[in-house]
Order: sequence, then C-alpha cells, then structure tokens
Amino acid sequence: MRFTFLAVALCAATLGSLPASAAGLDKLYIFDCGGLSAPDQSRWSPGVNVGVPIELSDNCYLLHHPQGWFLWETGLADAIAASPEGVKVENANGKFVLKRTKTLAAQLDQIGVKPADIKAMAVSHTHPDHIGNVELFPQTMLYVQKAEYEWPGTLGVPRFNPNHPVTKLEGDHDVFGDGSIVIISTPGHTPGHQSLLVRLPKTGAVVLSGDAVHFKDNWDNRRVPVFNTSKEQTLASMERIAEIVKKENAQFWINHDKTQSEAQKKSPKFYE
Ligand SMILES: [Zn+2]
Repeated sequence: MRFTFLAVALCAATLGSLPASAAGLDKLYIFDCGGLSAPDQSRWSPGVNVGVPIELSDNCYLLHHPQGWFLWETGLADAIAASPEGVKVENANGKFVLKRTKTLAAQLDQIGVKPADIKAMAVSHTHPDHIGNVELFPQTMLYVQKAEYEWPGTLGVPRFNPNHPVTKLEGDHDVFGDGSIVIISTPGHTPGHQSLLVRLPKTGAVVLSGDAVHFKDNWDNRRVPVFNTSKEQTLASMERIAEIVKKENAQFWINHDKTQSEAQKKSPKFYE
C-alpha cells in the first residue's frame, strides 16, 4: 500500500509538468442539457442589443479518466423535458423560457454510463441551469467552492442537499492529481463561480467557461451581465482565463454560446 501510494504521488508530480498528451484523461462527451431564451439580450450585454431576443445553449460535459468518470455541470432539471413548449420563469435575473429536449439521464444511458458510475462532479455555480440534476448522482463527490456552498440562498434555503457528499474548495483544484482536470476559481458571476481546464491527448487543452462569460461577443468586449454578483471579480476572472488560454494554447468553450455549441460534436460522439 505504502509503495503504491508513493508511486502514485511520484507519477502525479511528474505528469503535472509534462505536455497534455501525457495526461490520463481520454474522452470528453458533450451532452445537450437544455437551452434558455430571453426577450432582452442586454441583461447580459448592458447597453448593447437592448430589446433583442437571445437564445443560449446549455451543455454538460462528461470526462473519462482511468480513475473514474467526472461530470462537469448538470444543466436544467430533467423534469423540464416533460414540457415540450418549455417552462416560463421570471425572477430577479429576468424573464426566461427554459427548454430541454433530451434528459441527462437518457444521454448517459445511451453511452452505457449509470449515475452511480460517476466518481466525481462539479458545477460552475448554483444557478438552476447548472444544478438541475445534482441529485441524480446522490453518491457522487461534489466539488464546489466554499464561497458558493455557503452563499445564502433565497429564504435561507441551502444551495445543495446538505446530505450530498461534498468537498468545499478555496481556490483551484487538480481533481485526479495529474493535471488533466483542473477546477479553476473564477468568481464574479456568483461568489464561488468556477471554470474547468481539461487536457485531452488529441484535442489538447480546453477551458470550459461555466458562466464566466455567456457568449463570444461578450468575451471579445469583456462585457459583464447586469446580474453578476461582482463586476470587478468578473473582469479579473476573464483576464485570468485569457492568461490560461494563452499559456496552455487552449480552446475556450463557452457553455451558453449557441453558435459555438451547435458546431461541436455531441454525445455519443466524443473528443479525445
Ligand atoms: Zn448559466
């Protein structure tokens, strides 16, 4: 046991400094986790495209690593798929229509993965279009920033089921210790927002945005939505992501960018 532990520790230290091709991660699936439409894009881009409707994609990402499956984001609740015309929502962040054409459960089933097979998971933050199916995986270790976990919810309701296994983070976290899946702290959209750096053997490095930014035009112009909890933190997080993208020569996949999303391979196809 002692030898194995040391071997793993040494391996982890060595792999961390090697190029992406040495990482353990071997597959990334993108699931369709729903979509949002809203009557006014300028909620996301203050002063720009005022009164122009917007449609956002909503993806989930499943990663295969020799140490186990890792799920990034859970999307809108699967129950929304029961309403083909969508569900109307109005809250402090605006008016939305939420839609889901396929459930997350069905997309996992299609590739032969059971919820209990998923070893670890993380969500970028606690808005409903990201945490909708966390409890589909009641035994899966959830990685979340402490600042997000402890952020008071409406009427003091906890943001997660207190019985769900959780690791509360205070900053970045290398999930399997080999640098292939790294949670990056990117606060601003919410107090404990996080993004994900993945290093795939053929595709190379990819940064998964979470809601650090919602679509490319906002990224190019560094715009901050009106409902973000901190404009200053959001801008700092965008700069941090830009530095990582440059250093890693990474692709930047913006979860809610419908145009980018529609051009990507969806499960059962996958990226290697
Ligand atoms: Zn979102």
